[in-house]
Amino acid sequence: MDYKIRQLHIFFFPFLAHGHMIPTVDMAKLFGTHGVKTTLITTPANAPLFSKSVQRANELGIQIDIKIIKFPSVEVGLPEGCENLTAITGEINMQVKFFKGISMLQEPLELLLQEYKPDCLVADMLFPWATDSAHKFGIPRLVFHGTSFFALCAGTCVALYQPHKKFSSDSEPFLIPNLPGDIKLTRNQLADFVRQDVGETSFIRLFEVAAESELKSYGAVSNSFYELEPAYADHYRKVLGRRAWHIGPVSLCNRTNEDKALRVQQDFIDEQECLKWLNSKKPNSVIYICFGSIANFTSTQLMEIAIALEASEQQFIWVVRKNKNGEEEKENWLPEGFEKRMGDRGLIIRGWAPQVLILDHEAIGGFVTHCGWNSTLEGVTAGVPMITWPVSAEQFYNEKLVTEVLKIGVALGIQKWSTTVREFVKRETMEKAVKEIMVGDKAEEMRSRAKAFGEMARRAVEKDGSSYSDLNSLIEELSLLR
Ligand code: UDP
Repeated sequence: MDYKIRQLHIFFFPFLAHGHMIPTVDMAKLFGTHGVKTTLITTPANAPLFSKSVQRANELGIQIDIKIIKFPSVEVGLPEGCENLTAITGEINMQVKFFKGISMLQEPLELLLQEYKPDCLVADMLFPWATDSAHKFGIPRLVFHGTSFFALCAGTCVALYQPHKKFSSDSEPFLIPNLPGDIKLTRNQLADFVRQDVGETSFIRLFEVAAESELKSYGAVSNSFYELEPAYADHYRKVLGRRAWHIGPVSLCNRTNEDKALRVQQDFIDEQECLKWLNSKKPNSVIYICFGSIANFTSTQLMEIAIALEASEQQFIWVVRKNKNGEEEKENWLPEGFEKRMGDRGLIIRGWAPQVLILDHEAIGGFVTHCGWNSTLEGVTAGVPMITWPVSAEQFYNEKLVTEVLKIGVALGIQKWSTTVREFVKRETMEKAVKEIMVGDKAEEMRSRAKAFGEMARRAVEKDGSSYSDLNSLIEELSLLR
């Protein structure tokens, strides 16, 4: 690698939520292993989440720096230290305040750009003003969406053609126009900010501005790999005319168990305890259940999941995040004597799980996911079939990719997008899906397809693989721009 490439300096500015910060830190590490100097921008309460991971990368000779800017929590009426989307309840007022605080990060970001003059700014799509900020200093801005090409294409086609506006029913499926693969959705499954007839208008506007900002930017980096969704990677670039580089799965930059466990610093179960439990299990014999960093379920729903897991007779690892109102502290979400009865059959992780470490273990044979893109791609990379339980964001699109395009998952049949009121899934539905994904011919078929995608994912990031090559072309192009 020549001197010029080694010295390229890129700023990474992730949105203040785990699902955005985790892959961005991985991305910074990845660029670092390709000889680029990287700097992560974040706020005081978020920095400790990944400072250990950065420190470890530094020890391995990867040049990553962290620069801190203040988040104006108190100024916007949030409690001190409330700087991460996971700390925001479903209450709309709190979300509006949080996004106001986000918009106030433009000025401190510009001060940093002025002082350090990086060669490129990779900023989250939820900072639409970042394109103008970078332009002020003659710096190219890349957008990080943190989702699949499939979801980007589907979202763009829905926004362009507005097919949902031609229907009067919320539950009647419509075809997404100009999208390969005959994909159907209902209006109920669209995000509020996409439907535009419901929801908070400031969010609707935010997403419109974000889409305009991408068009003015240098392009987008995608945490995906070509072989996973070639039709959509091509469609995004060739038909929808966007510039984009696929460089994922970025989680694969964490090669050792220690790297995987250190990815984000949260109080979680000791990884050794987790590995010991997994090591005692047969390959593909455990189902892993986790709904990401934001989605919360009521005690009644958790109880229903517990009953379904018991009835399924499968072994499981189930991650339950405590509700912010402390409701789950009372543990009124488990049937009487559940853990005693389950004994060694199930492991409940209260709080945060080392997800990639768990998914990558050969004992894991299935994954119940909310279809956040990181989780979905981590499931694909680990080669496990999935049960899809989408909740909000672009998760209903990712569900379609998993179940209808890749055919490595079973949908629970969730009908309604929502950031607050969750649709109730009955025990029988969950039990049936768990059995379907863990045992029998259909499960084996999905598992072997999933394993094939997992192998493709690994090849994509190896030398001369599709993601490796796209990353190198991007670095070369950015070097020439200086
Ligand atoms: N994650 C984890 N442990 C947990 C919950 C989540 O490591 O207990 C990680 C997961 O591996 C993924 C991220 O947090 O990288 C969640 O991102 P995703 O896009 O799946 O969902 P979100 O949290 O944004 O809804």
